[in-house]
Amino acid sequence: MSKEIKDHSEAASQFLKDEQRATWHDETLWLVRAKRDKAAQQIPEWEELREMASAIKAHTLSRLDEYLLQFEAAAKANGVHVHWAADGTEHNRIVHDILQNHNAKHVVKSKSMLTEECQLNHYLRDQGISVVDTDLGEYIVQLRHEQPSHIVLPAIHLKKEDVSDTFHTHLQTEKNNYDPTYLTRSARKVLRQKFITADAAITGVNFAVAETGGIVICTNEGNADLGVHANKVHIACMGIEKIIPKAEHLGVFLRLLARSATGQPVTTYSSHFHKPRDGQEMHIVLVDNGRTQQLGREDFRSSLKCIRCGACFNTCPVYRRSGGHSYHNSVAGPIGSILAPNLDMRKNADLPFASTLCGSCTNVCPVKINIHEQLWSWRQVLMKEGFGGIAKKSSMKAMASVLSNPGIFKFSGKMGRKLMRLIPALVNNKLNPWYKNRELPEPPKQSFNEWYQKNRKH
Ligand code: SF4
Repeated sequence: MSKEIKDHSEAASQFLKDEQRATWHDETLWLVRAKRDKAAQQIPEWEELREMASAIKAHTLSRLDEYLLQFEAAAKANGVHVHWAADGTEHNRIVHDILQNHNAKHVVKSKSMLTEECQLNHYLRDQGISVVDTDLGEYIVQLRHEQPSHIVLPAIHLKKEDVSDTFHTHLQTEKNNYDPTYLTRSARKVLRQKFITADAAITGVNFAVAETGGIVICTNEGNADLGVHANKVHIACMGIEKIIPKAEHLGVFLRLLARSATGQPVTTYSSHFHKPRDGQEMHIVLVDNGRTQQLGREDFRSSLKCIRCGACFNTCPVYRRSGGHSYHNSVAGPIGSILAPNLDMRKNADLPFASTLCGSCTNVCPVKINIHEQLWSWRQVLMKEGFGGIAKKSSMKAMASVLSNPGIFKFSGKMGRKLMRLIPALVNNKLNPWYKNRELPEPPKQSFNEWYQKNRKH
């Protein structure tokens, strides 16, 4: 792991220093989770929908090459330019070339986690092209030079007071005016101007339909539509796993997506784009960037079913208490911890360990990805590949020998109970970052085994 990247537990401890914020973050996301539950309970066929979505995605992944080619042919027939990018660098170069061909210097972008993954903003800025993120949450974090901390709620780590300070500094709004309506209207005024003076619009893609060559983009603010309709060039960037076979499958995914994400029955705008309007140019960039490699990893293949709803974030006790930035990856949370090691095992070896493996993520996932099992599998792969770290490796080895020998197990338990009372530093030390922000219960006087031996006759 490079020096500037803190590991998850180190970064989480920074986040936890502000106890009030950490508690508020935890409670807010739990509220979103509760809204999701309520929305799901209102659909009697919810579980069937999840099954269906999972099956459609599994089928699509099993014939991804065919569906991608079908999509390409249909999109081209609609008059769309289709490009293929093997990785983030190629993706950025393609987007830059298109912009250069149009002499575009100012770009408006609606939310796209793929462009975050490829670090497109930095790349374009270095080429002298300005990019404005037009989703309100993304705009806030962009002004603060931060990464989104959540894939659906990019500024969820910030309070209205933080937003007010940020807008006062960058947009000269009234100091200490924390009124959300005032703040939103102020951002809206600035963004409207950006939309109409931009040279091109970049969007993400939620679903790409192989049979029609069309794409669907879901937003709550209508910013993708505004960007696309106000500009002569539309570049849509998508990971190759966004393909679904038919338009009729959209009904399944659109019903699941918004309910799982925020508890809404549907996203405010589900916009369908099939071809450029007269006088407009439309491009779609299909990006691999490690996805085919993940497809080849049997244990982790189904992570490509993800529709980026964020439900696994909202329910995860570790994410809620450690904040999105502690994951040092464009996609944080439980699913990010499965996707990240595929791209760089060394850099992201800590992430699959940032989980309690409670399985709550798996329970809420609308496409039924076995998230907690994959996190557990990654731990095994990483340990085998030598990315576990010396402390983890030696403590696991020691635990294995204790647990496989009943005599040593009994003796260690006895000693452990005594020593933990006398020397708490044995568990509360640097080698055990998980102790931070936790309190161990008082060690019992006897083990269960000892209690059972004494009480079995009763
Ligand atoms: S893994 Fe499942 S729950 Fe998590 S973001 Fe993806 S689709 Fe949503």
